[in-house]
Amino acid sequence: MSEEKKSLNFLEQIIEEDLANGLDKNKLRFRFPPEPNGYLHIGHAASICLNFGLGLTYNAPVNLRFDDTNPVKEEQEYVDAIKNDIQWLGFQWENELYSSDYFGQLYQWAILLIKKGKAYVDDQSSEEIAKQKGTPTEPGTNSPNRNRPVEENLALFEKMKNGEFEEGSHILRAKIDMASPNMLMRDPIMYRVLRKSHHRTGDTWNIYPMYDWAHGESDYIEQISHSICTLEFKPHRQLYDWFLDQIYSGKDLRPKQREFARRNLSYTVMSKRKLLQLVEEGHVNGWDDPRMPTISGLRRRGYTPESIRKFSEVSGISKRDNVTDVALLEFCIKDHLNKTAPRVMAVLNPVKVIITNYPEGKEEWLDAENNPEDENAGSRKVPFSKEIYIEQEDFREEANKKFFRLKLGKEVRLKNAYIIKAESCKKDAEGNITEIHCTYDEKSKSGSGTEESKRRVKGTLHWVSIAHAVHAEVRLYDRLFTDEAPDAHKDKDFKEFINPNSLVINTNAFVEPSLQDARIGDKFQFQRLGYFTIDNDSTAERLVFNRTVPLRDSWAKIEHKK
Ligand code: ATP
Ligand code: MG
Repeated sequence: MSEEKKSLNFLEQIIEEDLANGLDKNKLRFRFPPEPNGYLHIGHAASICLNFGLGLTYNAPVNLRFDDTNPVKEEQEYVDAIKNDIQWLGFQWENELYSSDYFGQLYQWAILLIKKGKAYVDDQSSEEIAKQKGTPTEPGTNSPNRNRPVEENLALFEKMKNGEFEEGSHILRAKIDMASPNMLMRDPIMYRVLRKSHHRTGDTWNIYPMYDWAHGESDYIEQISHSICTLEFKPHRQLYDWFLDQIYSGKDLRPKQREFARRNLSYTVMSKRKLLQLVEEGHVNGWDDPRMPTISGLRRRGYTPESIRKFSEVSGISKRDNVTDVALLEFCIKDHLNKTAPRVMAVLNPVKVIITNYPEGKEEWLDAENNPEDENAGSRKVPFSKEIYIEQEDFREEANKKFFRLKLGKEVRLKNAYIIKAESCKKDAEGNITEIHCTYDEKSKSGSGTEESKRRVKGTLHWVSIAHAVHAEVRLYDRLFTDEAPDAHKDKDFKEFINPNSLVINTNAFVEPSLQDARIGDKFQFQRLGYFTIDNDSTAERLVFNRTVPLRDSWAKIEHKK
């Protein structure tokens, strides 16, 4: 690797050491192993960026392996969504593989273990087996079936496979050590009877391998050099190695498992099981609801692949569990959209302004810069006329000196347009302001070069011309949970912390006409408001925007405090 690369993460250091100790660089091979039982989330993105990132760094292949050993929870819909999300993030796998492709080989190896006296069939009840397990401080006791003769084990195992036994009646166990301080080594289950149809193998199998048995052996079949998983699998490493010991030829590459800390994010939950609950119980509108921490939710919300990759990069790879502040994720998308999203004007809570001295029927198309952060972004024309909308919050009849917006008797600049002065306003019976009457300074047009155009006034407001405005729906999202760590409360269910105001739908927004032909996924900065993207629900008749993130930057504040 190049010397100028500043700091290697600890996994890269392990790889570098292995290379220094003689591992052939061409033997490096990685995998990303999702279980197709849900949609990928931002935690998976950490693992994807890590594994595919190592592939890029070392110019090594990365397999996509679906860990589909549990037919009860797995579906083709998830397989398709996972593939789509990985590609959208910008990564390409070498081979698309399935643990289920190895069911035959795994079965043969299980027979080998039985023959070597390293596995046996247990037909005790699960309660009985649990009782014999012992505790972390007390050894377990051996199953009465532990020394079943090989021939009998082979016959029973075959019957398990052929569907002659009921679910839960028989298991195949590895014969390791019921007194091991590592509970996982106390004769763990290799196979259980499951009379379920599998999304790929159909009804071929009546037994399915357990994760620990399938995972390492799949790594071996694929000759994965570094099998990277999350910390909770650390105690499984001993078992991973034991299973490999039983079948390793001694000649080819022997995979090694290494662990890193899960990515956790504040104000959300990340387990697929919990995300599935949110979907099934209707707390959100599907896996791709823009409030979900799923890749598909973030995409719909307006996140870019670049921003998610950046987030993975800056939050880094850690050896210890930690929680990343969601504000960092928001910072990453803002940073990317600041550079790339065109600026436009939209008014979310409109109030009408009439410019009394502007000629009736006149219309001007004013120059507006698309993105001051991007010199190639060019400019567009926005229409101006006698009647415009501004935000209700931008006007007060009276206000103190700190209110740099429009108030009676004072001036503001309309972005890309003129300086106006509020003269009077009209109210309805409840006292709501319905109309603001202003005058404008004809010579103050932005960019016209006159003295007046350079005149500085305190506030600048965004606006849209009423005659030209396009009606839009805007969906404003807040955090889905009110608590920083909703699933960290022992006595409370995480759903108790669901934020009842996480979605506010505004059907009365107006946007400038240049947005009329925007397409699903297009991203904009609504000036002074935030970043917005066109939602999937949008149609030519009804534009629908999602607010990706407001402009105000909470991450900068957090950093500043440190
Ligand atoms: P969940 O608990 O959300 O269901 P999982 O670990 O069961 O996640 P898998 O489909 O088995 O989900 O995960 C695929 C890969 O992604 C695994 O290697 C796993 O370790 C990794 N992964 C899952 N969640 C995270 C996370 N929060 N941070 C980092 N890596 C993760
Ligand atoms: Mg899992």
